[in-house]
Amino acid sequence: MTSTDAADQIPGTTIATDVLVIGAGVIGSAVALELARRFDSVTVVDSRGGPGYGSTSASSAMVRYHYHHFPEAALAWEAGARWQQWERYLGAVDPAGMASFIKSGGLVLEGPGYDLPRMVSHLRTLGCPVEELDGAELAARFPGLDPGKYGPPALPEDDHFWQDATGELSAFWVESAGHMDDPQLSAHNLAYAAEQAGAQFLYRREVVDILTADGRVNAVILADGTRVESPIVINVAGPWSAKINAMAGALGDFVPTTQPMEQEVISVPAPPGFRLGDGGTCVTDPDFATYFRVHAGNTIIVGAMEPDCDELVMLDSPEDAVTSVRQSTWETQTLRLARRVRDLGIPSKPSGIIGIYDLTDDWIPIYDKTSIGGYYVTIGTSGHGFKQAPFVGELMAELVTAVENGHDHDRDPLQVTGSWTGVTVDLGHFSRLRSVTPQRAMG
Ligand SMILES: Cc1cc2nc3c(=O)[nH]c(=O)nc-3n(C[C@H](O)[C@H](O)[C@H](O)COP(=O)(O)OP(=O)(O)OC[C@H]3O[C@@H](n4cnc5c(N)ncnc54)[C@H](O)[C@@H]3O)c2cc1C
Repeated sequence: MTSTDAADQIPGTTIATDVLVIGAGVIGSAVALELARRFDSVTVVDSRGGPGYGSTSASSAMVRYHYHHFPEAALAWEAGARWQQWERYLGAVDPAGMASFIKSGGLVLEGPGYDLPRMVSHLRTLGCPVEELDGAELAARFPGLDPGKYGPPALPEDDHFWQDATGELSAFWVESAGHMDDPQLSAHNLAYAAEQAGAQFLYRREVVDILTADGRVNAVILADGTRVESPIVINVAGPWSAKINAMAGALGDFVPTTQPMEQEVISVPAPPGFRLGDGGTCVTDPDFATYFRVHAGNTIIVGAMEPDCDELVMLDSPEDAVTSVRQSTWETQTLRLARRVRDLGIPSKPSGIIGIYDLTDDWIPIYDKTSIGGYYVTIGTSGHGFKQAPFVGELMAELVTAVENGHDHDRDPLQVTGSWTGVTVDLGHFSRLRSVTPQRAMG
């Protein structure tokens, strides 16, 4: 177990720490690891029973590097290098087992709102090998996929959904993309490494209040009455981030805000020719507004890219989410997939999981300080934060160190160079003060 037994801490007492991290998901645990490498005492509090039990547990864990915005592509590229050498990055071997990077590759198809040349240009700037494919090359390389252009995305009840292809799609292929085989174990590995570096994890302990004095954070209160005194508090609470920000009273100058959004990821049997190690890969398909990837047990998992025709399910609280996949989502997503993946068999019984995104208005995360001294946020990672975790941890540790030493990050955004690939990430891109262009899906 990576958990410090909560019984070690007597409820109702006071704990003092240099840094408190709220949330032990994949990102919270990565933040804790990098902070533990820099600070003497780091404490992580999570209301659940272990690391990665929040939105991390439902993650599709795809590791891709294509983004419309260069800072996000650079962040993913540097993080990807760490996923690919997981044990070396962690500097520890978790007795619970090690998650593995599966180099299943990444295929990105043409579709509305997806600027392929721009993404390819970013990838080439990063030094990421990428192959551009026309329709004929796509068909030859991926015979298990129909290369037809059917978009814009529609619901199956719309006649347009069933029309013949109007042409063939272009695409690009990134061989070095892939997925982690177990998102929860990935978080566990990070938490274990953080513990080895000196961090303390307190599970089944819920933060219910955040105390400030003279414009600085100074303590959080847990549901059992424990007071955790800390001059630095980092909100990495995933889809609960808005609740934590409200406790801190931190939202005054935020331009983007965060809200939980329900996301259903369905699972279907994979046909021969599109399985793990047998022609299958990770696919981004904006033409049908799905992403899908090969998964263990000869299955394919499929998530949505939120086209205009689909209703977004925004929640007041993550606890309001449904507990099983809706029949309507199952039908729509399996039919979309069946139009792209040849010979797909569709079982009659829905299968899949419910996840919750922590969504910003522009789908760009907020990795930033706040107007409250010592209070930081690593939030709004929607459906694409998993891959970023191993570098976000370091970005936040650099940010905290710089700001606590007097750097004015709001005026002069920090630029952080990744030590594994040499790429530089402009942290200003993830500012709470950025101007927001609302968009509907990640890209
Ligand atoms: C369905 C789905 C598919 C996804 N697919 C991908 C993908 O393919 N690739 C990718 O890169 N990303 C993907 N993502 C996104 C990625 O999984 C998330 O960005 C990432 O897991 C967020 O991690 P986190 O640590 O910030 O949050 P979480 O994992 O949600 O952890 C937050 C933690 O905070 C704790 N907490 C909350 N409130 C309190 C409180 N008051 N007191 C104490 N603890 C509290 C929770 O218990 C929880 O454990 C997907 C997400 C979902 C939901």
